[in-house]
Amino acid sequence: MEILFNIQADCEATQTSIRDAALGERAIRGLGEILAETGMKATFAVIPPDMAAHAATYRDLESQGHEIGLHVHPNEQGFDEFLGVYGIDEQVRIVRQAMDAFAQGMGRDPECFTPGYCSANDHTFPALEAVGLKHGLVSMPTRNLPQCACVWGNSPRDAHYPHRHNRCLTGDVDFVDVPPTVDAESRMWGGAHPQDLRIELVDAKNHWYTIHKNVLRQLAAGDAIPVKYIKAVTHNIFDYSDPRNFRRETLLGVIAAARRICEEQGCRLVPATTAEIASAYRARVPIPGGGERLALDTRGRQPGIAS
Ligand SMILES: [Zn+2]
Repeated sequence: MEILFNIQADCEATQTSIRDAALGERAIRGLGEILAETGMKATFAVIPPDMAAHAATYRDLESQGHEIGLHVHPNEQGFDEFLGVYGIDEQVRIVRQAMDAFAQGMGRDPECFTPGYCSANDHTFPALEAVGLKHGLVSMPTRNLPQCACVWGNSPRDAHYPHRHNRCLTGDVDFVDVPPTVDAESRMWGGAHPQDLRIELVDAKNHWYTIHKNVLRQLAAGDAIPVKYIKAVTHNIFDYSDPRNFRRETLLGVIAAARRICEEQGCRLVPATTAEIASAYRARVPIPGGGERLALDTRGRQPGIAS
């Protein structure tokens, strides 16, 4: 049994609230070193101004086997803060504009996409399909932040094709959504946010429980989860090049924990980009014809009382 392991770094050190391109560069170079030392693979999701500042480094990281994808914070392109407040035509416009900037840096179009704050609505997946994006981290299961236009409820925890009209269901959109690893029962931020495998959120000990729980959950599901993975996330706003940096220590602790837990469970941890997780999913699961079929649950209905 294999468990794929991916680290995603959202790269936005140039955004208005941070404005530290030099820190961004140290972070991605430091991450590159950690990945090389530990034999791990990452997905770097990059906002256009970070791409403009560090395109050569991203091309270098790509040549080392990592994936470079697109990250979008609409306010950095002159729009409102959150993608999830826009209709489909505007979302297509915002994402296309960012894709053009990405192509200038990388010499190719992006296939991988992540919206800032996981902000999305029911137009988002069809918009991503329309512009030719193929996979990414879009949903954040159980995050409930209407103030960021980010409400996901009990959306799927695992890789899936999203529904065309309802972002929380599975369906036939030609885009593989690869949610991050979360512990939905451990709530943070007043209950609005699950403890996710975000390096900077807690320490390696706390992350151990999230990894352990998710490895066991996926192994217990057997074939019902065709591609099993652990996906950690971070940002390029921590100095991963500094050996004494606490986030670096936490990331190393998370990698070691994932390895040890998989070993204990008799499965193999396989480093993977989001593209590799998505293509393993596509190889095993054809895009279905139509969306998830929902049936009315009448188990609790009292005779004679309509609901
Ligand atoms: Zn972001």
